[in-house]
Amino acid sequence: MARDPRYDILFEPVKIGPVTARNRFFQVPHCNGMGHQHPHGHAAMRGMKAEGGWAVVSTEECEIHPSGDVTPYVEARIWDDHDIPYLSMMTEAVHRHGSLAAVELVHNGPSSSNLYSREVPIGPVHQPTSYYPFQARAMDRQDIRDYRRWHRDAAIRAKKAGFDIVYVYAGHDLSMPMHFLQKRRNQRIDEYGGSLENRIRLFREVIEDAKSAVGDTCGIAVRFAVDEMMGKDGIAADGEAKDIVAMLAELPDLWDVNLSTWKHDSQTSRFSEEGFQEPFTAFVKTLTTKPVVGVGRYTSPDRMVSLIKKGVLDMIGAARPSIADPYLPKKIEEGRLEDIRECIGCNICVSGDYTITPIRCTQNPTMGEEWRKGWHPELISPKASNDRVLIVGGGPAGLEAARALGLRGYDVALAESSTELGGRVNKESRLPGLSAWGRVRDYRLGQIGKMTNVETYLDSRLNAANILEYGFERVVLATGCHWRKDGVGRSHAYPIPGLDKANVFSPDGIMAGRLPGSGTVLVYDDDLFYLAGVLAERLAKAGLKVIYVTTGDTASSWTTNTLELLVINKHLRKLGIRVIPSRDLVGVKDGVAQLEHSYGEEPEFIPVDAIVPVTARLPEEALYQSLIANPDALKDAGIKSVTRIGDCLAPGLIAYAVYSGHRYARELDANDMGEVKFRRPLPLMATS
Ligand code: ADP
Ligand code: SF4
Repeated sequence: MARDPRYDILFEPVKIGPVTARNRFFQVPHCNGMGHQHPHGHAAMRGMKAEGGWAVVSTEECEIHPSGDVTPYVEARIWDDHDIPYLSMMTEAVHRHGSLAAVELVHNGPSSSNLYSREVPIGPVHQPTSYYPFQARAMDRQDIRDYRRWHRDAAIRAKKAGFDIVYVYAGHDLSMPMHFLQKRRNQRIDEYGGSLENRIRLFREVIEDAKSAVGDTCGIAVRFAVDEMMGKDGIAADGEAKDIVAMLAELPDLWDVNLSTWKHDSQTSRFSEEGFQEPFTAFVKTLTTKPVVGVGRYTSPDRMVSLIKKGVLDMIGAARPSIADPYLPKKIEEGRLEDIRECIGCNICVSGDYTITPIRCTQNPTMGEEWRKGWHPELISPKASNDRVLIVGGGPAGLEAARALGLRGYDVALAESSTELGGRVNKESRLPGLSAWGRVRDYRLGQIGKMTNVETYLDSRLNAANILEYGFERVVLATGCHWRKDGVGRSHAYPIPGLDKANVFSPDGIMAGRLPGSGTVLVYDDDLFYLAGVLAERLAKAGLKVIYVTTGDTASSWTTNTLELLVINKHLRKLGIRVIPSRDLVGVKDGVAQLEHSYGEEPEFIPVDAIVPVTARLPEEALYQSLIANPDALKDAGIKSVTRIGDCLAPGLIAYAVYSGHRYARELDANDMGEVKFRRPLPLMATS
């Protein structure tokens, strides 16, 4: 299909100094947990973005020197010439598809750990490092000269590695130019501290150094956080940021502007809408003639066009939308808007970096698997048999299996016991703040709807007899799971005493709209991710008095990995919810909950009218057990395999369910189906 002419403007080329981007789609730097440790995977993932139409594809932070080592996080690295071949793998993968490769050079100064290099961290003044119990020392003039030399040398190496754009990075409360800009971090009394003219000096010098070193052939981009969201204590869009942009306006070849820190830059859909950065970054274009890139979880092409036309941005920056759909630009170009797999804003991608593991994505199960499994987000091998597949359950696992099997050409029947497809995504996306999660369902329904070889059957609860009778060769059980009501979970191997006699409401019940009528509800969170917090919000908004008790040190403690921890904890308190962290629910008697303190303080007794235990789930596996209990019956029915996927196999994240469904579809009819098989990049033996 041809592109809608109203999107033509998105495909205009943009000049970035000496290089030209073929369109306005710009994959800004983003972490991915692969970096220098998984260079093949990293290169293939970036190459996929270029293939999908992103005109510029950037690395994540790329450390320039051992004194700016961010271990244990795994980012890119360009310490010396040994790194060049690894980075070249990426630039070649990007160039193969006609895109420009950008590198985000970084020295994190006092935000570095140097846990690997064991160098003493350095910074504008003596100060504690951001995340570790030791200090950075103040840089003297020689240190500043050294830092500039490292940055310059790194830029030259980047050019050798084939990069077309070299970033000077001042963002996220992380990099040296940012730390010199920040008043609170820079109280130097020499020409690099004090007035803004002085604090901006290093930033300016490093941009000039990069320009003189490689600016003849490389575009020099600046990444600058215009607001640290801390009022007058930080850089602010209505404060010094304007002066900074004005003072450097025409110096770089491109401005990439955003918010700091990362939690403000990558806000989740629970707390912010598409375009949430616009009010902060919109001023930049009024102060420079150079192209401006900005982000804001943009997935709507109409919104993108309006940003360009209104003069807010010149290029549409994206990290997460490019992760969820590496082919987003191409789909707009080809007039296939309904095929766009929109980011749901859940930040599971971020959790990869935070847990120092390769990136994964809820919407895009192939993310991070491009090299090690050879998975392509849009392509999949044709079917290898004429086996017909029956999928039982239409949640994210069943829907993704149906979509991907359908794409392979298999005949698929999907039976769902309820009257709507979507499973847990339907339930969860009705909770406060989670409506965008419905995109997991919507994308798959849209795709399946176009397939003549995938039939869906609603209101169809299947039992073993039905399945044997239908005689599909392959049976996939995607029947999901349910929340326990007995309190068993991480902290309790056995049911919590008294819960069986208490007024207990399960998370499933609340999601289905069955709420306590009135009074005080105790939400007991031993799951530690998002759900208990969202349920507490749901209950509070229904007018109930909510007490949130968690075995974690904070509410929703695992959300530190999705950048939401602080905002959730503030949010719950704002809603009037009493949060009691570091406590275990050890029993309930006569409407009184007994809490035990993690630090051994006296037990606490709280009168409650209802309890919602959010502890653990059990798979809906009865159907599976009854089928496999009778192998002869399966054989007689012509059933070759019965496979559990998603939450029916093991309750987990929505991302795991999608991945599980996808993996089943990829592997069907492979000789080694179900084997754990992926390529591993083994370290090379050092030669010197
Ligand atoms: P997952 O996350 O693994 O996809 P979900 O809980 O989201 O799991 O979805 C499971 C779906 O399976 C639910 O929509 C549920 O209604 C459906 N289901 C469960 N048992 C049966 C059954 N016996 N027949 C048909 N559908 C079923
Ligand atoms: Fe978007 Fe979630 Fe995928 Fe990240 S993991 S790109 S937030 S859908």
